[in-house]
Amino acid sequence: MSQSPRQARPLFCGNWKLFGSLSESLALATGVRDGVAPGPVDVAVAPGFVALASVVAQLKGGPVAVAAQDCHWETKGAFTGEVAAAQLADAGCRYVIVGHSERRQFFGDTDTTVAKKTRAALAAGLSPIICVGEMLAERDAGQALPRVGTQLDAVINEMNEADLLASVIAYEPVWAIGTGRNATPAQAVEVHAFIRGRLTARIGAAARKVRILYGGSVKPDNIASLMSEEEIDGALVGGASLTVESFVKLVKEGTAACLRS
Ligand code: PEP
Repeated sequence: MSQSPRQARPLFCGNWKLFGSLSESLALATGVRDGVAPGPVDVAVAPGFVALASVVAQLKGGPVAVAAQDCHWETKGAFTGEVAAAQLADAGCRYVIVGHSERRQFFGDTDTTVAKKTRAALAAGLSPIICVGEMLAERDAGQALPRVGTQLDAVINEMNEADLLASVIAYEPVWAIGTGRNATPAQAVEVHAFIRGRLTARIGAAARKVRILYGGSVKPDNIASLMSEEEIDGALVGGASLTVESFVKLVKEGTAACLRS
């Protein structure tokens, strides 16, 4: 277990990706809302764009916030098919995921565009959940930390303390996403500590308050060992967030582990 006490309020965010009709999204959101009590952690869900406003209305006043899965960096203009960060804020979102590895792999997101999306999110008053993480070949070549460092620096280099405190970093090793193969707590801690070091170099001790989530095949039965590590401030969860039972159990197990650590 790491030595320094966790200073960031944990966050568990479910990423629903391209799953769910409007009625399925509302049912899932309602179940999560009813299953998690307000407590010492934050909980969010990230439905598809079409369901965002309805899910926001459904969750209003409750303990579960809403995240979008992506945004564009411009505020308006001829960008067919894109959604601006300000539109997401207007719809009631609190967070937006930027730089998810699926966006980087399949939709051309780069370190440069992720930095632009992050700036747009902050300007719109959203908290960006900034995803970084290495490919399996990079890990096998001993390049995990340099790769994550490059991705991170591209985004944080122009950010000040307030920007960073409003942001969330998600370390998601690409080889662990949707594969059932999660990083061990020790592997995650090594990268989280590296990220924390980079943040500390920019904003000093306040870096301990920036939430660094782990993502990659997090399940109800492995969340406790991850959350017993004080370097890990929560989780970005794909597959295990798609049923009420699994996500609520994961949040409960994760919260209990935080309280014990
Ligand atoms: C994700 O989508 O960010 C993710 C971590 O997915 P999974 O939990 O399914 O690996």
